[in-house]
Amino acid sequence: MAIIETKLLIIGAGPAGLTAGIYAARANLQPILLAGLQPGGQLTITTDVENYPGFAEVIQGPWLMEQMVKQAEHCGVDIRYDSVVNVDFSQKIKILTTDSGDTYHAKSVIIATGAEAKWLGEPSETKFRGYGVSACATCDGFFFRGQEVVVFGGGNTAVEEALYLTNHASKVTIIHRREQFKSEKILQDRLHKNPKIATRMNHEFVEILGTDNPLSVSGVMVKDKQTGKNETIPCTGVFIAIGHAPATHIFKGALDMNEYGYIKVKAGTVQTSVPGVFAAGDVADPIYRQAVTSAGFGCMAALDADRYLAEHDE
Ligand code: FAD
Ligand code: NAP
Repeated sequence: MAIIETKLLIIGAGPAGLTAGIYAARANLQPILLAGLQPGGQLTITTDVENYPGFAEVIQGPWLMEQMVKQAEHCGVDIRYDSVVNVDFSQKIKILTTDSGDTYHAKSVIIATGAEAKWLGEPSETKFRGYGVSACATCDGFFFRGQEVVVFGGGNTAVEEALYLTNHASKVTIIHRREQFKSEKILQDRLHKNPKIATRMNHEFVEILGTDNPLSVSGVMVKDKQTGKNETIPCTGVFIAIGHAPATHIFKGALDMNEYGYIKVKAGTVQTSVPGVFAAGDVADPIYRQAVTSAGFGCMAALDADRYLAEHDE
């Protein structure tokens, strides 16, 4: 349980935090970066990435993040595998405590805690979580080889999860509450061409069905919004892919946030409501939420932190 003083503490090791680290280390700010429970961030739970510039071939998300971690370390970022559990931004020196019991006294802070998977919040979903219900196809898809699974959602994540699951499952049914998917057209084309994938558009979640002893899933009940009729789709796995919520619970009350929990920044900047505290990436971005935009915001945060320290670090 140590007290550690630092000019700049970066929270998060996704594209935003690592890019901030690279720029801050090169500006000689000697940043400490706390990586949290998911070093590498959200891209570590996906497979193909084909829209991050600089690569002629499709690359893998975990590999890309490994490269970013190595690059940050090479530039001199002090990466520590710990999570922030509490913050006090009321004084000029920001005080942050971590899971391991350490306390950081930081002159400036970059928050890059990204986002976490959203759940439907239904009792049957909670009951079967970890027993057939998952929010990560790349983590759990393997357990459903040769079996039938369903995916809930209609964005890029849901369509990519469904496509990925066809590598393991015998059949994948994607269920979306609207008439149209929200995902990119190129992904929708791949989805419709895949013979293992069935769709239920305009269908709503009703319940996950299964047994109690042992806990296991046997199907999902969904409702056709047009006819009002319920249908049971047999399956042993259910993947919830309805988006991600910003990881901001530890900052409640310490910073201004919008109604969905995204950290508010001054338009066109990464400056939060507290001087010396900057927010970069998905945690402050309800619109773009991409690896490349997060990296860009990380760069802005490091440059702004450097400027702030030059002006306030007497
Ligand atoms: P994240 O990547 O979410 O990283 C957050 C970091 O903060 C993690 O290291 C976490 O451990 C850490 N953290 C959280 N809380 C704490 C805490 N209390 N203390 C310390 N550390 C903490 N985007 C693309 O551009 N192309 C794609 O192909 C693509 N595919 C995707 C596939 C999937 C399945 C998902 C879920 C997302 C995908 N995205 C894609 C979106 C992209 O992953 C995100 O936009 C990007 O990762 C956001 O980066 P970030 O650094 O803001 O946050
Ligand atoms: P998203 O774009 O927010 O889509 C979430 C989907 O889930 C929407 O279709 C939404 O339906 C549905 N949904 C939300 N709550 C629901 C509920 N309670 N019940 C049923 N359905 C519900 O989230 P995402 O797909 O995770 O994508 C997040 C961001 O990451 C996006 O910016 C995306 O572009 C990016 N991303 C990019 C890639 C890529 O570039 N290849 C891959 C993955 C993610 P409605 O349409 O009705 O709201």
